[in-house]
Amino acid sequence: MKVICIGRNYIEHAKELNNPVPKSPMFFMKPDTSLVINNNPIYYPEHTNNMHYEVEIVLKINKKGKFISEKFAANYFSEIGIGIDFTARDIQDKCKQKGHPWEIAKAFDQSAPVSKFLNKGNLSSLNDLSFSLSINGTKKQVGNTRDMIFSFNEIIAHISKIVTLKPGDLIFTGTPEGVGPVSINDHFEAYIGEEKMMDFFVK
Ligand code: MG
Repeated sequence: MKVICIGRNYIEHAKELNNPVPKSPMFFMKPDTSLVINNNPIYYPEHTNNMHYEVEIVLKINKKGKFISEKFAANYFSEIGIGIDFTARDIQDKCKQKGHPWEIAKAFDQSAPVSKFLNKGNLSSLNDLSFSLSINGTKKQVGNTRDMIFSFNEIIAHISKIVTLKPGDLIFTGTPEGVGPVSINDHFEAYIGEEKMMDFFVK
């Protein structure tokens, strides 16, 4: 399986990092070794001094597809979860300056903890889904999918032009504003609506 992440899908987040708002979805990938499940702790990586959290809604692909049209894209995912796109911001800034690839800043081990998944049929509206991240009991990020620049269906259509999607693939759909640094011993709690989805520590 693969983890595909959309960058800059919320205008206020693109602005907070002084990035232009994209005209088409931009994406990058993380390997399966980036995944962490079951609320297991993650270990602060040694190669960065400024790891940031980015809370994101995550789609789980349930069907193989290539050149999926927007019209049928909703048939390719049935479950939704939440995850953290951990980012070595210090290293990413250097990569951006030099025009280097982002893997060293984004694709490291344990950089993609994900929650349990909910059947999308049980959610009231996919286009008006609130989600949030608290760290040590303080709300750090609050988002709503209505603020996405590119919808879930547009994202799936775009990615599948380039990369075949397969069952079990995960798509991180972008983070709202409020990203910030992580410290050792931080306690992460992520919510979809009022439901606590994820609860883990950084060690
Ligand atoms: Mg992200």
